[in-house]
Amino acid sequence: MLKINEIDVYYHKTCALRGLTIEVRPGEIVTLIGANGAGKSTLLRAISGLEKVSAGSIEFEGRNILELSPDRIVRLGIAHVPEGRRIFGRLTVMENLRLGSYIRRDKKAIVHDLERIFSLFPVLRDRRSQYAGTLSGGEQQMLAIARALLAKPKLLLLDEPSLGLAPAVVDSVFDVITEIRKLGVTILMVEQNARMALMIADRGYVLETGSIVHQGTSHELLTDE
Ligand code: ADP
Ligand code: ADP
Repeated sequence: MLKINEIDVYYHKTCALRGLTIEVRPGEIVTLIGANGAGKSTLLRAISGLEKVSAGSIEFEGRNILELSPDRIVRLGIAHVPEGRRIFGRLTVMENLRLGSYIRRDKKAIVHDLERIFSLFPVLRDRRSQYAGTLSGGEQQMLAIARALLAKPKLLLLDEPSLGLAPAVVDSVFDVITEIRKLGVTILMVEQNARMALMIADRGYVLETGSIVHQGTSHELLTDE
């Protein structure tokens, strides 16, 4: 589904990704693991068209997406939930969700999808008229994920979905990710919490200073450590 081959990304003269190669197959949950600064967020941003890739290729469903705009990439079916719960605090939950469906025209289908989203995230249904800024951290993260799902992605990129959340809430975020996969959405995620991420992932890649230093099934990576 996603094939990244030998890509380099530079910030001025700093090399953030160097000859990086990974693959994600349909239906998988794949996790990226690595210390702060390893290049995980840069990789997700490169896939979304938010960073300039100076060498290598990125193919999504057999199509080269390297020179496409971020908006085109969303329309092809890749949604990105960046780190840090970037929701609009002064808009309501419902208004935030509507923004997620901006690329779609069929109003009936959006209403239908909202129903599915609300059954996945009941708390958002209860709070749909509330300002998003009044939600708890965990609820804001759920909203950010729900908004991304309304773009109907085939591939969902999640950057540190559990960051800064209380342990009980972290569990519910991981549960939701598992449910999303059951809807047929493929997931590539970045997690500091490697152990928990591997519990729900099929495979993982370990990054160090911009390159893959290790890869394997979750079982292999969990037993190697
Ligand atoms: P991670 O997500 O694994 O913590 P990042 O992808 O954020 O790593 O960063 C990879 C490297 O690129 C780090 O050395 C970081 O300081 C650098 N970097 C990230 N974003 C920028 C930027 N906008 N400008 C310059 N350097 C950056
Ligand atoms: P993350 O953990 O998601 O990589 P960071 O805290 O590293 O986030 O970065 C937050 C923002 O600062 C990002 O937009 C990133 O591109 C930018 N950034 C990160 N490192 C650098 C850097 N060394 N120089 C300039 N901008 C940076």
